[in-house]
Parts: sequence; C-alpha cells; structure tokens
Amino acid sequence: MEKSLRIAVLIKQVPATENVKIDPETGVMIREGLEVEVNPLDLHAIEEAVRIKEKVSAHATAVTMGPPSAEKAARYAIAMGCDEGVVVTDRTFAGSDTLATANVLAETLRKLGGFDLVLAGERATDGETGQVGPAVGSFLGIPVLTYVSKLEIQGDRALVQRAVEGGHERLSAPIPALAVVVKEINVPRLCTLGGKLKAKKAAIRVLTFEDLGLPRERVGLAGSPTKVVKVGYPQVTRKGRKVSVAGDFDGAMTELERFLADAGMTGMPAFSSGGTKEANL
Ligand SMILES: Cc1cc2nc3c(=O)[nH]c(=O)nc-3n(C[C@H](O)[C@H](O)[C@H](O)COP(=O)(O)OP(=O)(O)OC[C@H]3O[C@@H](n4cnc5c(N)ncnc54)[C@H](O)[C@@H]3O)c2cc1C
Repeated sequence: MEKSLRIAVLIKQVPATENVKIDPETGVMIREGLEVEVNPLDLHAIEEAVRIKEKVSAHATAVTMGPPSAEKAARYAIAMGCDEGVVVTDRTFAGSDTLATANVLAETLRKLGGFDLVLAGERATDGETGQVGPAVGSFLGIPVLTYVSKLEIQGDRALVQRAVEGGHERLSAPIPALAVVVKEINVPRLCTLGGKLKAKKAAIRVLTFEDLGLPRERVGLAGSPTKVVKVGYPQVTRKGRKVSVAGDFDGAMTELERFLADAGMTGMPAFSSGGTKEANL
C-alpha cells in the first residue's frame, strides 16, 4: 500500500488590523481585545497542503503556537481541508522571539511523530521577521526551501520552483524537508459549508510546556535572546484639511485663499477653475 505523506502546516494567528500597539515597557505586542485572523500568507501554505492531498495520499496537520484562542486558526485550516489541528499553548511561551518560537514548534513536530513535509508562510504580518519557518527547519536538521512558488512531491523528493530576483530557480531536495511558500504559489480557496461543519466538530489537540519537555530557559522570554528595544511611530507633522469642490469650485478656492492668508502665505499664483476636483489644505 502507498505510504501516506505526513504534512505539517505552520500557521500563526495575527491581529486582523494594521493598528497594532506595542507595550513600551516589554516591546511585546498588546494582543488583548484585538480581532484576529489566520496570517494571510499562511493561507497559501494551507492551500498547498490541501492541493497535495488532492493529488497523493497525504494527511495534513495544522500547527499553531499561541494563546488558547488560537484553536480558531486551527479550525480554519481544517475548514479549508486540513485533517487535524494542534495548538501549542502555555503561559511559559509568552514573549517568545523567533528562536524560542521555532524551538517550540520544532519540538512539537517531533512530539507529533515527525513529518515528511513542513509548510510555512513567507512571514507573519505582525512580527514580519520571516525567520520562524527556516529556523524550524534548522532545528529539525532538514533541508529548507524558501520562496517556493511551485511545489511537487515525487517519490522521496520535493521538487520546487523558487521565486528569485529576475527569474526562477528549480531545486530538488530529499524529504523530509521544510518549504516556505510565497503567495504566488496558489490562490487559497474559500471554506465550504461542509468544511466549516467538519471544523466545528473537530477535536483540536492541545500541547503544553509539560508535554514538550523542553528546558524552561529555552522558551518564552527566558529563551528569547532578541529584545525589541524600542518601537517608534512616525510623527504626523502636517495637519491636513480636505475641501471637497463638489460643484462649488469658487467657494473652495475662496476657502483655500483664506487658509493660505491665515497661514501667512500670500502672493500665491492665482487658481483657475476646471479640472481639479479636490484641494488638500
Ligand atoms: C513589532 C514586533 C517586532 C518583533 N521583532 C522581532 C525581532 O526582530 N526578532 C525576533 O526574534 N522576534 C521579534 N518579534 C517577536 C516575533 O513576532 C515572535 O517571535 C513571533 O512568534 C514569530 O515571529 P514573526 O511574527 O516574525 O513570524 P515570521 O518568522 O515572520 O513567520 C513566518 C512563518 O512562520 C510560521 N509561524 C510564525 N509564528 C508562528 C506560530 N506562533 N505558530 C505557528 N507558526 C508560526 C508561519 O508559517 C509564518 O508565516 C517581534 C514582534 C513584534 C510584535
């Protein structure tokens, strides 16, 4: 009987907003009260796992490290077509940098019995380092294929196309291997009603610090040599006021002239009507 390919997909739950706030003391993201979603780039990794499942006998496990609520991300992966979901969660993991995160994820994959193919997204939209995927592969001691825009499993090898500057590169590596996929690889499918129902009923496996048996000093803040020293926000120095012309060009120009006069900017060239629809003050 044909051996079933074991695929792990690494997915991260990220804030569904660009308005992310960082704790100025710890340099760690304030996640409380934020809407979350599966990291958009990880949807391509899930999609690729499901496409492989449609071609060869395979079993796909979505793995996420995060708070207990990250089980929602695991369920989303199942709704898209993964077979099961695993959440690695423990207060001890809080504040993990990429090294500690990758350490926990690699140990999780080992504890789950090992995988022939590990898929990861290019980067998470919050931390944005793009380090976790390759670091997991490195901890596992398996080939790491990055910027993968095409992927095929042939026997005991992964054949990939890498998106490189100015073209493509074709590589082949023995499996087990880890592939970091780019968004060009596929278009993620929408979840079907059947998928959503399956995901709702699925039992999500939860692993904790105790289950992994890693030394305490290798996880969480203790196992994180990288510290976010300071996060700055750009200062908005211009105060804009938008005047909509909406049919009254002369009125808008009068307002603009008054604004410039108030700001002490006189002797500006005269404005003429026609063409322009908006003035930014
Ligand atoms: C503003 C900010 C700046 C940061 N800067 C740094 C920094 O410079 N150096 C550093 O070490 N840490 C940094 N961190 C911490 C970092 O976000 C966390 O370590 C995070 O868990 C992983 O890094 P990432 O978000 O950059 O993921 P990336 O490395 O960008 O993620 C790549 C892929 O790895 C997988 N993946 C990542 N995280 C998980 C997870 N928790 N579970 C499952 N799969 C996952 C996904 O497939 C993802 O697409 C920063 C965090 C913030 C909020």
